[in-house]
Amino acid sequence: YCKVNGRNGKLVYSKEMNQTYNDLILLEGELRRALTKEELTLYYQPKIDVNSGEIIGMEALTRWFHPERGFISPQRFITLAEETGLIIQLGEWVIKEACRQQKQWKEAGFKMQRVAINVSALEIQRKDFTAKVRNILKETGVPPQCLELEITENSVMQNTEECIETMNELREMGITLSIDDFGTGYSSFGYLRKFPINHLKIDQSFIRDAFHEPSNAEIVKAMIQLAHTFGVKVVAEGVEERAALDFLKHQNCDYYQGYYFSRPVPAEEFENMLIPEEV
Ligand code: C2E
Ligand code: MG
Ligand code: MG
Ligand code: MG
Repeated sequence: YCKVNGRNGKLVYSKEMNQTYNDLILLEGELRRALTKEELTLYYQPKIDVNSGEIIGMEALTRWFHPERGFISPQRFITLAEETGLIIQLGEWVIKEACRQQKQWKEAGFKMQRVAINVSALEIQRKDFTAKVRNILKETGVPPQCLELEITENSVMQNTEECIETMNELREMGITLSIDDFGTGYSSFGYLRKFPINHLKIDQSFIRDAFHEPSNAEIVKAMIQLAHTFGVKVVAEGVEERAALDFLKHQNCDYYQGYYFSRPVPAEEFENMLIPEEV
């Protein structure tokens, strides 16, 4: 959790470091508790078809509203969960909860859409991951076509061979696979050939100023073209302005997400964006 200085072979913590360390230990226990006490909840952000403007699915994003500390950002608690191994439990909760919600919406008369879930490297590396996902789908009655898994490019870089095997299994089941935050890691276009992926999500850092930063615009353009060569659809993250959307339209980008259309919202609010099932 923190850097430690050695002095005469002893571990020395500064008062500040100790504070941080204790705080993290505390937070870990609280996250463990949050998992059982329903302090965690999922928000949903729509994914939009660039051309038709229609909602084609949604991404589930975990929110932690701590009773005393208030909102804790995913960046903080996901990292903590990854470092402590709690991410396995958390990840399982996320898939279950997202599927439960899908089922509930369907029962309320809405057309079931595809929900995307963020998966950490630790989760995908587990041998039982595919079986776990299969069981949850079976239990909740959600078809695999309505589930998408987002994996960051850095995650798939670790244990590449095992990762590809797992991804092949998931794909064979009918699950949609996406590479998340593309462009922020090793960014090898070899992924497009090597990994059985359906979607490439271009990281928001490229999108946010693509339309007035010529070098970013060129990168985005190249990413879209190459992805399409491999039959991979492209999702642009972080679309905040009309100008970004116009640019993406011009570049034949397939889908987008961003504050321009909607922020991630609670399930009750997302319901307003759902389409009733045709009878
Ligand atoms: P991500 O998967 O790349 O999700 C996109 C992030 O960008 C989300 O932040 C979303 O709220 C934010 N975002 C969406 N549109 C815009 C926009 O137009 N402008 C800006 N500035 N931001 C936008 P969030 O919810 O804070 O999540 C951050 C990261 O935490 C996620 O990045 C994901 O890597 C991780 N995360 C969140 N929930 C989970 C989870 O359940 N499991 C795992 N493993 N990771 C999660
Ligand atoms: Mg994501
Ligand atoms: Mg992302
Ligand atoms: Mg991210």
